[in-house]
Amino acid sequence: MAGARILLVEDDPAIARSIIYTLERDGLSVTHSLLLGDARAQISRQPPDAVILDVGLPDGSGLDLCRELRAAGSLPVLMLSAQGEEIDRVLGLELGADDYVSKPFSPRELLARVRSLLRRARMPPPAPALAGNPFEIDTAGQRVSLHGRPLNLTRREFGLLADLLRHRGRIRSRDDLLGAVWGADSDSTDRTVDTHIKTLRAKLQEIAPGHDCITTHRGMGYSLDIDRVKGD
Ligand code: CA
Repeated sequence: MAGARILLVEDDPAIARSIIYTLERDGLSVTHSLLLGDARAQISRQPPDAVILDVGLPDGSGLDLCRELRAAGSLPVLMLSAQGEEIDRVLGLELGADDYVSKPFSPRELLARVRSLLRRARMPPPAPALAGNPFEIDTAGQRVSLHGRPLNLTRREFGLLADLLRHRGRIRSRDDLLGAVWGADSDSTDRTVDTHIKTLRAKLQEIAPGHDCITTHRGMGYSLDIDRVKGD
């Protein structure tokens, strides 16, 4: 996190000074803009890792810049606003701000929010939750459970299951699976996929006996149907 670049857009000199002091003391590098126009130029010149954005600025509303940034990508934005401006808070979050702090705030609180914003930005997005999905998958930790019971999978078995879940209901050819799990230039073969599917199936059936959610499509590949392991 040290060395992360923060763009601070704030026209109040006292508030800006205290934020800059706190963030820099924590090892973050801060660029400061007083105006939206300058902030836009800074961002296009060198996109920061996160933006701290005041709402009321001399040349316009920080909410507009927030909307523009969200339309352009996923640069993390923390909005600042005057105390009691509930409407700004709601609008800011609706426009896609990642977090919101009302003035007055303590610099330490702001620092904690900025750090958590940077941490979240570095993590891969969570897999979308599925209603009634009996699988719970933690991609970062490479762990998966079925009906709340952890599956003890090897790295390749985990990769196969994650890929089939991501494309559930669709047929994945052995080539697709090889590319996704072993990498394009591996010298593994179709047989490798079959072997790992077999061990994966056995582990799934230990938890859901008699329910085979992986279908073999002759000459085509494999698909996964979560309805087949749904409890009732
Ligand atoms: Ca202001």
